[in-house]
Amino acid sequence: CGIIGIVGNSSVQDRLIESLKRLEYRGYDSAGIAAQVNGKLERRRAPGKLRELEAVVAKEPLNATTGIGHTRWATHGAPTERNAHPHIVGRVAVVHNGIIENFAELKAELIATGREFQSDTDTEVVAHLLDAELATGLSPREAFAATLARLRGAFALCVLIGGEDEVILAARNGPPLALGYGQGEMYVGSDGLALGPFTNRIAYLQDGDWAVLTHNGAEVYDASGAPADRPIRTVPSSA
Ligand code: GLU
Repeated sequence: CGIIGIVGNSSVQDRLIESLKRLEYRGYDSAGIAAQVNGKLERRRAPGKLRELEAVVAKEPLNATTGIGHTRWATHGAPTERNAHPHIVGRVAVVHNGIIENFAELKAELIATGREFQSDTDTEVVAHLLDAELATGLSPREAFAATLARLRGAFALCVLIGGEDEVILAARNGPPLALGYGQGEMYVGSDGLALGPFTNRIAYLQDGDWAVLTHNGAEVYDASGAPADRPIRTVPSSA
C-alpha cells in the first residue's frame, strides 16, 4: 500500500524504512525492502508492523545505496513473509501497489514456459515477465516497456534490476507516484510526504507514465512511449 525507491549516494536502509513509516497511515499488513548489494539483489521482509522489519534488518543489515521499499495491504495471497514484497525473480526485484487484473492468465502462460512461482501474489507475474524480457536480451528500458504493455489493472510499480545498481524503474497506472529530485540522488514514492525527509522538489507521474531514475534525474515516458515532461514543483517542506 506504500512504495519508496531511492537511487542514493549514501546508505539507504534506514531511509527506506523512515519513508515507509510516513506511509503507515495508509494501512498495511507486512513490509519489506530490497537493495543492490555488490551488484546482487538482496531483500529483508517481515509480516506485521515496521518494527518487525526493523528487527530483521538490525540482525542482517542491507548495506546499499540504491533500494526500494514497500508496505503491503494484501489483495492476493495471505499476509505472510513469503507473500510480502519485494518479489525477486532472477535479475528483478519488484514492489507493487494495486492489482494486476490479468495475473491469472499471465501466471498460467509463465508456468507453461517452465517458470516457478514463490508466492501467491498477483505481483509476482510482473517480476517473471520482466525477467523473461531481460533474458531475451532487451535493455532494462525495452524490457520494462514490453512488460507494462502486458499488464491490466491499477498499479504503481517500482523495480530494481540486478547489476544495474544506479537505476530504478517506476510506473503509474492508477495509484499515484511522486518523483523526488535531490542532490545527485533521485527518489520515487507513493506521495510527497514519503519523500519529505529527502527533498521538497517533486514531480507527479501521470496515469500511464513510466520513468527511469538515475543519480542525474529521471527520464519520463507517457503511455505511448513518447518522452514526457512532468513539471517539478517545490512543495512546502514536510521533513
Ligand atoms: N496486490 C498486491 C498484493 O496483494 C499488492 C497489494 C498492495 O497494494 O499493497 O500483494
